[in-house]
Amino acid sequence: MVTTISLSTGSETAQTAPLPILSHWIDGAPEEVLPGQTGPVFNPATGEVIVRVPRGGQAEVDKAVAAAKAAFPGWRDTPLIARSQVFFAFRDLVYRHRDEMAALITRDHGKTFPDALGEVLRGLETIDFACGLPSHLAGLNTSAVASNVDAQTLRGPLGVTAAITPFNFPAMVPMWIYPIALMCGNTMVWKPSSHTPGASQLQAELWKAAGGPDGTFNVVYGGREAVKAIVEHPDIRAIQFVGSTAVGRYVFETGTHHGKRVGSFTSAKNAMIVLPDADMAMTADAAVASGYGSAGERCMAQTLVIAVGDSGDRLRPLILDRIGGLKIGPGMEPGMDMGPIYTQEHRASVIEWIDKGVAEGAELVVDGRPFAHPTNPAGFFLGVSLFDHVTPEMQIYQEEIFGPVLGIVRATTYDEAIGLINAHKYANGTAIFTTDGGAARRFKLEVDVPMIGVNVPIPVPAGYMSFGGAKESAMPSPTTRSAEVPPSTSSTARPSKLRSTARRET
Ligand code: NAD
Repeated sequence: MVTTISLSTGSETAQTAPLPILSHWIDGAPEEVLPGQTGPVFNPATGEVIVRVPRGGQAEVDKAVAAAKAAFPGWRDTPLIARSQVFFAFRDLVYRHRDEMAALITRDHGKTFPDALGEVLRGLETIDFACGLPSHLAGLNTSAVASNVDAQTLRGPLGVTAAITPFNFPAMVPMWIYPIALMCGNTMVWKPSSHTPGASQLQAELWKAAGGPDGTFNVVYGGREAVKAIVEHPDIRAIQFVGSTAVGRYVFETGTHHGKRVGSFTSAKNAMIVLPDADMAMTADAAVASGYGSAGERCMAQTLVIAVGDSGDRLRPLILDRIGGLKIGPGMEPGMDMGPIYTQEHRASVIEWIDKGVAEGAELVVDGRPFAHPTNPAGFFLGVSLFDHVTPEMQIYQEEIFGPVLGIVRATTYDEAIGLINAHKYANGTAIFTTDGGAARRFKLEVDVPMIGVNVPIPVPAGYMSFGGAKESAMPSPTTRSAEVPPSTSSTARPSKLRSTARRET
C-alpha cells in the first residue's frame, strides 16, 4: 500500500541540508534526477524552498512517450471490465489517500486544506465517471447497408495522449483528463505545473498500486522545453492543455500543426450579474466566496460583480462586512478562509494590477496590498482588495488578475449588464443572482458563456458533465450562441422556484 510520496535526495552546495528531489515517473517507476537539473518549489505560506522539481526536456519526454507507446497495445487490448477494475481500485486508493494528497496541494499551492480536500473530491467525481465508462464505449451496428454487408462503428483509443496542466488545481484538473483517456484505452504522459508538483507523483504511485500497468501513466516535470517536446512529438496523438491563453494558444496551434487533436482550456474573467430583486445577503456571501476563495486563483471565480440598478449600493456594505471577518493565514491552520498567493512573483503581479486599477480611476474600497501575516512575514500573503466603479475600458475589467481582487461594475439595466458579459473577450463561467425565474431563464438562453450559474457563484459542472469555455477561454472555441429570446419577463414572472433547485445549474 502506498502511504507517502517517494522522494530521492540530492546534495546541493547552496543549501545547508539536502532537499528532497521529486522524480519523473516513467514506465511505472521514479526516474533518478541529478540536483543540477532541478528547480525550487516553495511553500508559499513560509516562503521556504521545500522540495526540488526536475526540469525535464526532450530526453525525458522521449523516454516517457516510448514507455507509453510500448504499453499501449497491451492496455488497449485489456478487457474493458479489467480496465474498469483498475479504476475501481484507483478510486478507492485516491479516496483513502485524500488527506495526504490535499496536504501536498496545500503545501505547494497555499490554498486552505478544506479547499484542497474539496478539489481532490471533485477530481474523484471524474474517476467515478471513468469507472462506469464501458457503457459509453459501445459502438454502432447497422445491418444490411448493402447486400450481405453489415457496418460497424467502433469506439477505439488513439494511442499515446498527453496532458499539460496548470498550478491552481494539481489534482482536480488532471483528474478531468487522464481518467477518461486511460479508461478509453489510451496511455498518458502528464506534465504538471512545476509550481505545484507534489500531488503528481502520489497520483502516479496510486495508479501503479491500483494495478495500472507500467508505462500507461507517466509524469514528466518541466517547463517550456518539455511542453515543446510534447506538442511536436510524432508519437503523441492528442493533447489536453489547461492554463493561460497565451500558452494554450501556442499548444493548440503547434499541436494541431503537428497533426494532433488538441483541446485548450484557457484564461477567464468571469462576471456575475446581480439584479435588484436578488437575496442580497446570499449574493454577498457568494461574491466573497467566489472572488476571494483560493486567493482568487480559480478559473471559475466570479471576479466582477455587475450590479444592476440600486443593487450595487445595497451589496457593497454587505460585502464589506464579510471582508472584515475573513481570516488569512497558512492553509493548514484550521479556520482560515484564504491562504497565500502561490509565488512571490505572482503576488507582485497582483499588486501591480491593484496599482493599475487605482491609476485607471477605479475606487479602491479595500486595499489588500499592505497585509502582512504576523507570524509568517516571509510568506507570500496578500490581503483581499475590493474595487468599485470599475468600467469596461479599464484593464482591470478586461484582463485576468488571478488574485484576491473583486471589482464592482455599475449597470443601469439587465440588458446593459448582459451586453457587457457578451462583449467580453473571455467566456468561461458566469452567474446571475435574482429571485425572478423569468430573468434567470432569459439569462440562460441569452448569455454567450458556456457555464452558467443561477444563484450559484462557481458553476463548475459535475464530473460526468461536459466542461469548457468559449472565445479566448477555450480552443477550439465552440461557435458562439446567438439565441432569439423573448422580451424580459422580469416584471410579470411569478416568484422563482429556481433558487431552491438550481444549486448547480450549468
Ligand atoms: P500557465 O499557462 O502558466 O501554465 C500551464 C502549463 O503550461 C503548465 O504546465 C506550465 O508549466 C506550462 N507553461 C507555462 N509557461 C509556458 C511556456 N512559456 N511555454 C510552454 N509551456 C508553458 O498557467 P498557470 O499559471 O499554471 O495557470 C493559471 C491559468 O490557467 C489561468 O489563466 C487560469 O484561468 C487558467 N486555468 C483555466 C482553466 C479552465 O478550465 N479554463 C482551469 C484552470 C486554470
